Amino acid sequence: MLDFCIIGSGISGSTIAYILSKKYEVEIFDKARGLGGRASNKRFIKKQSFDHGVQYISPISKKFKRFIQILYKKKELKIWDGNHLDFTFKKKENNNKFIGSKGNNVISKYYTKNIKKNFQSPVKSILFNKYFWEIKFDSGKIIKSKSVIFTCPYPQLKRIAGKYLEKKFLKLKINMEPNITTMIAFKNQKEVPISSIKFNDKILTWAANENSKKRFSSSNSLWTLQSSVKWAKKTINIYKKNKKVENILISKFLDFTGYKKNKIIFKKTHGWKYSYNFQSSPYKSYWNKKLRIGVCADWLIGPKVESAWLSANDLAKKIK
Ligand SMILES: Cc1cc2nc3c(=O)[nH]c(=O)nc-3n(C[C@H](O)[C@H](O)[C@H](O)COP(=O)(O)OP(=O)(O)OC[C@H]3O[C@@H](n4cnc5c(N)ncnc54)[C@H](O)[C@@H]3O)c2cc1C
Repeated sequence: MLDFCIIGSGISGSTIAYILSKKYEVEIFDKARGLGGRASNKRFIKKQSFDHGVQYISPISKKFKRFIQILYKKKELKIWDGNHLDFTFKKKENNNKFIGSKGNNVISKYYTKNIKKNFQSPVKSILFNKYFWEIKFDSGKIIKSKSVIFTCPYPQLKRIAGKYLEKKFLKLKINMEPNITTMIAFKNQKEVPISSIKFNDKILTWAANENSKKRFSSSNSLWTLQSSVKWAKKTINIYKKNKKVENILISKFLDFTGYKKNKIIFKKTHGWKYSYNFQSSPYKSYWNKKLRIGVCADWLIGPKVESAWLSANDLAKKIK
């Protein structure tokens, strides 16, 4: 039997799994095909890839800064430099933007090197059996664990584990806003000296030039486009069926940059139903010692990778 069953392989899940694995038998289960959750990296061809969730990390707290420096010295992270512009195409942002040397799922990769991970394993339900948890997966498989930790977005947590969470925790007002993200590759597109652009637009708000992250060299030009929250709210439930949604976002980008539609060789859109919670909650993490059920996730603290990392560290302290 496991000591800890960790649901989710994003920043929170990987961080808590790593800390607990020093002392306990731990395994990670994730419904996705790969590691990293909202910090995952999508491969296009060979080394060419897109960070379709997290774009960069700008650490604020001393503790997180120290951790980022460790990964930076190990060359797992590097600085994404170049021209980060706003919509006037003039003003530069000059905060340090750390990115994974090979992809932004680097933190999860680093932490889970020696931890058993199970992908394509969506958890369906959980049952507390007085002495241990029975965790049931969509496949019908059941595993036993002394403790269970959730790191998924709040609505998903409530659906699976609501029965076992305290009322005041279930009453939290957490608004996880959506985002529509489109990955797009152009063939033989002349490289532009721009790393990222913030747009002042109702639909398209940000574009990142994946080539400028210098993880690969190619005549293809790869961009990741992110929508506004407001527009994502209108389109999140229809974008899969209605290709107009993707085309609207792409047309905006073509209009702004002057790139040509006929050079597009790849496009893929991902709708993040639960992207980020811009507010913080009264909890940094949640631990019920009696039932041995815990929660750590970005949305308890804020909308960033750093929030996820801090939440996992807070939970580890409570468990100890
Ligand atoms: C488009 C976008 C851009 C962003 N840009 C930035 C940025 O530039 N900088 C920054 O700091 N932050 C950014 N963020 C926020 C950042 O991605 C998150 O704060 C952070 O990745 C959250 O990590 P987490 O581990 O808490 O959650 P997640 O990464 O969401 O991990 C939860 C995991 O649980 C899994 N899961 C869910 N339900 C189940 C289930 N039933 N069974 C099994 N597994 C399940 C999911 O597959 C997922 O892997 C961005 C987010 C989005 C969506």
